[in-house]
Amino acid sequence: MTADVTPRDAPVVVETVGLGKAFGTGKTAVRALDSIDLSIRQGEFVSLIGPSGCGKSTLLRLIGDLTDPTAGTVRVNGKPAARARQDRDYGMVFQAPVLMDWRTIAKNIELPLEIMGFPADRRRQRAADLLRLVELESFADRHPWELSGGMQQRVAIARALSFDPKLLLMDEPFGALDEMTRERMNAELMSIWQRTGTTIVFVTHSIPEAVFLSTRVVVMSARPGRISQVIDIDLPAPRSVETRESERYFELVTRVREALRRHEPPDEPGDPVAADRIRAEGLA
Ligand code: ADP
Ligand code: MG
Repeated sequence: MTADVTPRDAPVVVETVGLGKAFGTGKTAVRALDSIDLSIRQGEFVSLIGPSGCGKSTLLRLIGDLTDPTAGTVRVNGKPAARARQDRDYGMVFQAPVLMDWRTIAKNIELPLEIMGFPADRRRQRAADLLRLVELESFADRHPWELSGGMQQRVAIARALSFDPKLLLMDEPFGALDEMTRERMNAELMSIWQRTGTTIVFVTHSIPEAVFLSTRVVVMSARPGRISQVIDIDLPAPRSVETRESERYFELVTRVREALRRHEPPDEPGDPVAADRIRAEGLA
């Protein structure tokens, strides 16, 4: 079996150069991100992992043109992020599925297509195809509140895929789910990614999730948020339950864990958050 690492000559989908973001100015400014140089090629599955507050969401929002950089540039498919957003180059999925409760599941998936002015019959066909993809065909006419959290998140993924985005940005989409559901959703997302070939940038703070899903894991450190290490995940495809039991998987989980720890030295003395973490991890 071959490793599912993207060919090095695939087109670059995301390119950040010296990307930085500060909130506020002067003494109270928060440097959320600093000097981020990252290049993501078509068909990659890249996870951003790091401690809370290290700027994962900010980086995703910069790529998605939901916020503006204060330094550097971000280009998507060779264009400024704002242009890529106008061109609907990406879909986004957040931790909370944000579905419209008064719309049926099918109508929720059709929403972006409605906004884009697709004719009704194409919208319906597309929603039906996507419901099959996320294995919710029989729930087309139900409403969001009738579905479990995991099912709702599958609807949100289907909706994000509705207009065939070249890039899918996901911010801790399974963070609110229990461990079993999360593992099932991981397998589901893997298979969706393999079938669609969409490039995915995925924020998580779960090490097993990052290793299982990704072709590359970008490890970040806080204050200011920086990339501290990039780890290639050379696990063979297709990934399955056996993947999680393989020796290579455990090695990579350990590498990511060590990278996170190495770049998280005890912060300034007296920092209560750092002190708690050190105690919790048994480092002191
Ligand atoms: P993560 O997603 O890794 O937990 P975020 O990207 O949400 O981190 O935040 C990075 C840093 O920027 C944090 O210190 C956070 O408090 C700060 N931050 C994020 N958004 C804002 C904002 N809108 N205004 C001020 N500070 C913010
Ligand atoms: Mg976040």
